[in-house]
Amino acid sequence: MDTFSHALWGKALFGRKGTNLFALLFGAAPDLIAFLPWMILRIINGTFFDREFGKPPPVEIIPDWLFFMYDFSHSFITGFLLVFLLYYFRKDYIWFAALAWPFHTVLDFPFHTKEFFPTKIFWPLSDFYIDGILWSRPEVWIPNIILLALVLFYKKRKNTING
Ligand SMILES: [Zn+2]
Repeated sequence: MDTFSHALWGKALFGRKGTNLFALLFGAAPDLIAFLPWMILRIINGTFFDREFGKPPPVEIIPDWLFFMYDFSHSFITGFLLVFLLYYFRKDYIWFAALAWPFHTVLDFPFHTKEFFPTKIFWPLSDFYIDGILWSRPEVWIPNIILLALVLFYKKRKNTING
C-alpha cells in the first residue's frame, strides 16, 4: 500500500488520544526506513527527478542495501519484537500504537507482486512470500480508501458521542 494509507491505517486502528502521532509514524515506519534514505540520497545527487514522476524506479537501479532494509522493516519478526520490547519496558500505551508496524506488513503481504518488493513476512527465518495483487490497482486501492475513510469516520463519531 502507499505510505500515506499505511500511516492513516495505523492511526485509524491503533491510535488513541495522545498516541495518534505515534500510530501514524509506526504505520509509515517500515516504508520510511526502507525508501527514505535512498530518496534523500537521490535528491542530493540530483537523480531523483530523472525518472517519470509517479512510476516506480526500475529494479536494476535500486541498491542492494535497500532490499535488505525492506526485508528487515517489513518482517513480522521486526514488528512484533518492537511491540514486545515497548510493552516490556515502557508499560504504557505506546506498545499498542506500535501494532501499526506489524499491521503495515499485513497490508503489504497480499498487495505486492514478486517483481517489486514481495513482502517476506518471516524474514530472516524464511524468504517465504506470495505473488500478490499490486496495491496501486484500482480494485485494491479504491476499496482501501473507502474502508479507511469508514473506519476513520466511525472512530471520530464514537469519540464525539463518548465526549
Ligand atoms: Zn511497505
